[in-house]
Amino acid sequence: ATLRTPLMAGNWKMHLNHQEAVVLVQKLAWTLSDKRHDFAKVEVVVVPPFTDLRSVQTLVEGDRLAVRYGAQDVSAHDSGAWTGEVSAGMLAKLGCSYVVVGHSERRQHHHEDDALVNAKARQALGAGMTPIVCVGEGLEVRQAGEQVPFTLAQVDGSLAGLTAEQVAGLVVAYEPVWAIGTGEVATPDDAQEVCAAIRARVREVHGDAAAEGLRVLYGGSVKAANVAGIMEKPDVDGCLVGGASLQAEEFGGICRFY
Ligand code: PEP
Repeated sequence: ATLRTPLMAGNWKMHLNHQEAVVLVQKLAWTLSDKRHDFAKVEVVVVPPFTDLRSVQTLVEGDRLAVRYGAQDVSAHDSGAWTGEVSAGMLAKLGCSYVVVGHSERRQHHHEDDALVNAKARQALGAGMTPIVCVGEGLEVRQAGEQVPFTLAQVDGSLAGLTAEQVAGLVVAYEPVWAIGTGEVATPDDAQEVCAAIRARVREVHGDAAAEGLRVLYGGSVKAANVAGIMEKPDVDGCLVGGASLQAEEFGGICRFY
C-alpha cells in the first residue's frame, strides 16, 4: 500500500440534498485542515448524488479545498435519447475526478452486469475521469469459499479490453456484499486475500506496471475504529466508505488511518 497514494472515497449513496452537501464538505474540509495531521499524503474523495455535484464543485473550486469528488454512476452512452441518464462528458464538465461503476447496489437492484460496468468504465476513461470499479461476492459465495474466483471473474469482465496504461490508473474497490451497510466488516486478512488476488490477476493480464499502479480499495462497514488494521495490509490502497462518510468527524478519522 505504501507504493501508491492511499485513497479514501466516501460514497454518500442517496443521502443529502445540495445544501446539506455543502455543509458536510465544509465540515470535512475543516476536519482535514487540522495541522496536527498530514492529510496531504492521503487522497480524499467525496461521491455525492448527481444533484449535489454543481454545489460541491462551486465550493471545492472556490475555496480550493483539498478534496476531490466524483459521481456514483454514469451512462454507458455518449449522449442522446437516454431519458434519466447522465453522461461522462457532463460529469467531467462538473469537475468530477472519479466515477463509481458497478456498485453492488446497482448490480443487485438495477441488474448491471460486467459488460455494462465495462462500458461505463470506458465512458469514464474516455472523458478523462477515473472509474472506481466495484466488485465483490455475496454471502452465499463467501460461505462456499468461492470469493476469489467469483470476484476475479467480475474483474475480468469489468476490465475487459482496457489497455495496461488505463488499468494502471484505475481504482478497483473490493466490496464483499455481506459487509456493506451491515456493520459486518471483513477481517484485514479477508480483505488482503481478495485484494491481493485482484492485483495478481491484473499482473497476469495487464503486466507489472498496471499491477503496481492499480489502487485496490476495500469497502464494507469501514469506520475510524477499524480502518487501521485494514490499511496495514500490503494490497489495500484505501477504502470505499458508505455510512461512515456521512459524518465529517468519522470520515476525517478514517482519513487519519495511519
Ligand atoms: C458502500 O456503499 O460502498 C459501502 C461500503 O457502505 P458501508 O461503508 O456503509 O458498508
